[in-house]
Amino acid sequence: PQSYDKPKARRWDHLLSQESLSREPCVLKQAAKYLKKPGLISLGGGLPSASNFPIDSLSMRVPTPPHFAEAEVASTGQDVRIGKYDVRDGRNGGVYDLAIALNYGQSVGAAQLLRWVTEHTELVHGPPPYADWRCALTVGSTGALEQALRMLCDRARGDAVLTEEYTFSTALETAAPLGVRVFGVPTDGEGLRADGLDEVLATWDEKERGGARRPRVLYTVPSGQNPTGATQGAQRRRDIYEVCSRHDVFILEDEPYYFLQMQPYGGGGASNVVPPPETPEAFLRSLIPSLLSMDTDGRVLRMDSFSKVVVPGSRLGWITASEQVVERYIRHAEVASQGPSGISQVLLYKLVDEAWGHEGYLRWLMHLRLEYTRRRDAILAACERYLPRDLVSWVPPAAGMFLWLQVDHTQHPQASAKSILEIEDDIFASCIDKGVLAIRGSWFRAEQDVAPSGLFFRTTFAAASEDDMARAIERFGAAVRESFGR
Ligand code: PMP
Ligand code: PLP
Repeated sequence: PQSYDKPKARRWDHLLSQESLSREPCVLKQAAKYLKKPGLISLGGGLPSASNFPIDSLSMRVPTPPHFAEAEVASTGQDVRIGKYDVRDGRNGGVYDLAIALNYGQSVGAAQLLRWVTEHTELVHGPPPYADWRCALTVGSTGALEQALRMLCDRARGDAVLTEEYTFSTALETAAPLGVRVFGVPTDGEGLRADGLDEVLATWDEKERGGARRPRVLYTVPSGQNPTGATQGAQRRRDIYEVCSRHDVFILEDEPYYFLQMQPYGGGGASNVVPPPETPEAFLRSLIPSLLSMDTDGRVLRMDSFSKVVVPGSRLGWITASEQVVERYIRHAEVASQGPSGISQVLLYKLVDEAWGHEGYLRWLMHLRLEYTRRRDAILAACERYLPRDLVSWVPPAAGMFLWLQVDHTQHPQASAKSILEIEDDIFASCIDKGVLAIRGSWFRAEQDVAPSGLFFRTTFAAASEDDMARAIERFGAAVRESFGR
C-alpha cells in the first residue's frame, strides 16, 4: 500500500531476450478469468473433477512457536488437517482446500500462498522502493535462475553474466548450455567487490573477452555465498547497487541463505559478543538490508526459497521483481513447470499462515539463526583446534552454511613443480582416504578456462553432528599436513 505514491519500475525491453519477448500468454489459462462470473457453468478448462481425486484429507504435525525443538513436537506440537472440501477459512480470500490445491491453478501460485509471501516480502524488505513490484511462486531458485537467464540473456546477442569469481556450480551449469558466458568479479572477505565490478564493466573489451558483449546482468548471492560463505555488508550492497545502476546492469539476487544470518562470531568457538534478537522486530532489524530493499529502479529480481529455511523437498520459493519482469517470468512458467506442486503449496501455506502466521514464521527463523550459529561455532572451534594455522585460513561466515578454507599452496614443497589443481587433487584424494568429504574449490570457478590463483575447499556445517564435524576437520587437517610433508 505504501508503494502507490512511488514511481514505477524502469522498463527492461532492451534487456529481454528474443525468447522471452516472443512468449504469448497461455490462452487456456486466460479463460480462467471468466470463472468469476456468478452463475457461469464451465465447460471450459480441462480441470478434472475433485470428486475423482483419491485423496480425501491430509494432516501433518508441526511445532507450535516458540517450541521448535524436534523433541518438543510430540508434546507441544499441533495437528493441521486439510480436507477436500473445507468450508470454513475465508480469512485470506476464500477457501483453500484440497479440491482447489490438488487441481490446476495459475502458474503465479495459489492466491493464498502468493498473498502470504507478498506480505512477508513487505515485512522484511520494506517493501521495495518502487510502485509496481510483484511476487510469483517458483519451483525453487534453481528453476527460477534458469528461467531468469533465459529471459534476460540471448545467446545470439553474445550476452554474458557477471558473478563472484567463485560461484554456485549449478548456476554455471545452468548458464553453459544456454550459451551464456560467465565472468568472475574479484571478491574479498565481504564477497563481491563493488570497485572490482566497476572496473570490469568500465574496461570491458569484447575482443579480449572472446567476443562476449559487456555483461548487462549480475548474478550474486549476497548472504552466505555458495561456496565462499561470504556476506556483503549493507554498505557493500549499496555500492554494488550504485555500480549496477551507473552501468545499467540488471541484478539477479539469489538469497537462499538470507535468513541464515548468524550471531557475530567472537572467536574460540563462541558467539557471545551481542545477545541474540529477542523479538521478531529486533530480528528483522538485525538482518542486512537486501538489494531489493534498495531497488529504486526495479533492476533487481530477487529469488527467495523455502529450501534452506523450511524443506528443500517442497520445491517452493518465490521471486520478487517489477510487474514487467514478473509477467515475463510467468509466461515462461505457464509452458514449463506450471508453477509449484499444489500439494507443496497447500502444506506450506497451512504451516506458515494457519499454524504459525507471520510472527510464528519469524520466530522459526530466529530459532534457525541460533541453530546455525551453534553449528558454525562448532566447526570454527574445530578448525582453530585442528588445522595448521600457517597453512589454512578462513573468514568466519556471517551467514549460510558454508566455511571456505584456503590452503596456502605457495608453501607446498612441490609448489613450483605441481599446479594448484594437482595439489588440490592430492589433498582431495587424501581426504577421502581419511574419511572426510570436502568439496574442491576449483569446481566453483566462474571462469573454468582460467587457471586458479588459490587453493580452496568448501565445507559445510549444516548437517554433521558437532562431534563428527570435529572429527572431519581433524582428518582434513591431517590430509593437508600429509600433502605438505609435515
Ligand atoms: N499435454 C497434453 C496433451 C495435455 O492435454 C495436458 C493437460 N492439459 C498437458 C500436456 C499438461 O500436463 P501436466 O499437467 O502433466 O503438465
Ligand atoms: N542458489 C544457491 C546460491 C544455492 O546455494 C542453492 C542450493 O544449493 C540454490 C540456489 C538452490 O535452491 P533451490 O532449492 O531453491 O532450488
